[in-house]
Amino acid sequence: MHPGPGSSQRPNEDSFAAVADLVIVADGATAPDGLGTGCVHDPRWYSRELTAQATAAHVRYRDASLADILSTAISATADAHASTCDPGHPGTPSSTVVMLRARAETLEWLVLGDATLVLETPHGLNAICDDRLFQTNKELRNQVLRTTADDPKRPARIAALVDAQRNFRNVEGGFWVAASDPNAAYKARADTERLAAGTTWRAALLTDGASAAVDTYGLTDWHGLLNLLDAAGPNGLLESVRKIEADDPAAQRYPRIKRSDDATVAYLTGAPE
Ligand SMILES: [Zn+2]
Repeated sequence: MHPGPGSSQRPNEDSFAAVADLVIVADGATAPDGLGTGCVHDPRWYSRELTAQATAAHVRYRDASLADILSTAISATADAHASTCDPGHPGTPSSTVVMLRARAETLEWLVLGDATLVLETPHGLNAICDDRLFQTNKELRNQVLRTTADDPKRPARIAALVDAQRNFRNVEGGFWVAASDPNAAYKARADTERLAAGTTWRAALLTDGASAAVDTYGLTDWHGLLNLLDAAGPNGLLESVRKIEADDPAAQRYPRIKRSDDATVAYLTGAPE
């Protein structure tokens, strides 16, 4: 498992936890300066609190579904700052989430928001991402992508995009993320794969800063990504991502909203007991 901040100027806003048979990776959303959040905490507080609450719920309710665990964690996290903040604010902190639970003969997974799970089993190779965010505000997003990272027009365009996205967050027809509505957990993509005893499998849980290796930079395909993780570990993958970003500081060759995004990878291999 490896977390890497996207910038040396600020801490990584991703968070991860592994306990017993559960792994969870969360990516807290950054709010541009000037847009209110109704929250006194820094952005990484939310993703850290959420992973801690999910871990606690998993330990407490062993047979709960992943959606139930995440829903409980979203409620508990909202409660944890209700006395100092306004969790009902449209800009309240939010996070994408990817979870994997490996038990004897089952692999359960959940993906909420634009995090990615790459899963290879005898049933095949699957890259699961919830891309509903990208179905909203396409023109505003393109306006950002048409500017280079050092264009003075860019910060205002990013703020306009984020502001517009708030209208689509956690509403039917929009996109779903962990924020303050526990119902969002049931809008996640989730499934259970049943495996014969002794089957081997590989899985990578990636925040969008790490999945960029494939979906933005085309460094390799999803199968190649698992092989890269096998050979060089999460550190090796993230070094490759950082090198591409450093070679394209203006985000010109690879148009993207963040010059360099926080990136976290959890890589797991196994065989059911
Ligand atoms: Zn708060």
